[in-house]
Amino acid sequence: MMENTDVVVIGGGYAGVMAANRLTQRDDVTVTLINPRRTFVERIRLHQLVGGSDDAVVDYRKVLGERVRLVVDTVTRIDAAGRSVTLAIGATVGYGYLVYAVGSGSADPQVPGAAEFAYPIAGLEEAQRLRTVVDAAPATAAVTVVGVGATGIETAAELAEEGQVVLVSDGGGVKQAALRPISGAEKVVRFIVGGTGKAEGTLTIDPTVVNGNPALVLRLDGEVDGIMAIRVEDARITGLYYVRNPEKLTRVAAETPLTLR
Ligand SMILES: Cc1cc2nc3c(=O)[nH]c(=O)nc-3n(C[C@H](O)[C@H](O)[C@H](O)COP(=O)(O)OP(=O)(O)OC[C@H]3O[C@@H](n4cnc5c(N)ncnc54)[C@H](O)[C@@H]3O)c2cc1C
Repeated sequence: MMENTDVVVIGGGYAGVMAANRLTQRDDVTVTLINPRRTFVERIRLHQLVGGSDDAVVDYRKVLGERVRLVVDTVTRIDAAGRSVTLAIGATVGYGYLVYAVGSGSADPQVPGAAEFAYPIAGLEEAQRLRTVVDAAPATAAVTVVGVGATGIETAAELAEEGQVVLVSDGGGVKQAALRPISGAEKVVRFIVGGTGKAEGTLTIDPTVVNGNPALVLRLDGEVDGIMAIRVEDARITGLYYVRNPEKLTRVAAETPLTLR
């Protein structure tokens, strides 16, 4: 009879989940994953949580193999000689092999004032705390990102896009349109002026209503060339959805979506 091996994985981040899932490919291995929370934290999306475009958490059922037993708790002690770990609730879990994958955290701030005034984003609670602060701040508040590594750059880009107007255009692969969303008032205006300036014929633009929202209808020599739906939030234009896709234009009054992302 095959002898069974008990493996305990401490930490359900990328490393722990990957190790646990791989280990369950062997029938003679039983895997227990111990993690303090019920949901998987996508740390690589924490800057998006700060910018409001993602919540950076995923249900473990989506990422964890079926044969992995999840224990929601924190390991407070490892008894290497006795081959067991102690949980915060006081119970112990024995193991044959241990995988230690507890990740990393923010470095202790060395710069005077940083501990009191800066907002680290290495962990979920830290990022959520900053999100609350960003939410409460006026749209014009200046934000300084300290640290120009990958995380700093991504965070700065995410925050810079927040609250900016975004234009999404859809040519249906038939008519010319921007390949990606364009964000920022200046770039959006440049795109619209550039596009309308190139029109071959007489272009007229009239206000209309699409799905109860304000919109513009663009006609070229009297024929509808495109509809630009306008998303308004707090009296500001935050999104433009420019439909040139001929197939969609035939039913635009019924179902032009105002989803910009
Ligand atoms: C904003 C941001 C953006 C990033 N972007 C990228 C990117 O684009 N590409 C990239 O490659 N990397 C990126 N990283 C780095 C990446 O997130 C980390 O390298 C990665 O999360 C490390 O994985 P891990 O499994 O080792 O640790 P973690 O993902 O941190 O997981 C560790 C787990 O262990 C748990 N744990 C800790 N202590 C205990 C304990 N005592 N008992 C039980 N469980 C415990 C934690 O709760 C956590 O669930 C980014 C990081 C940040 C903060």
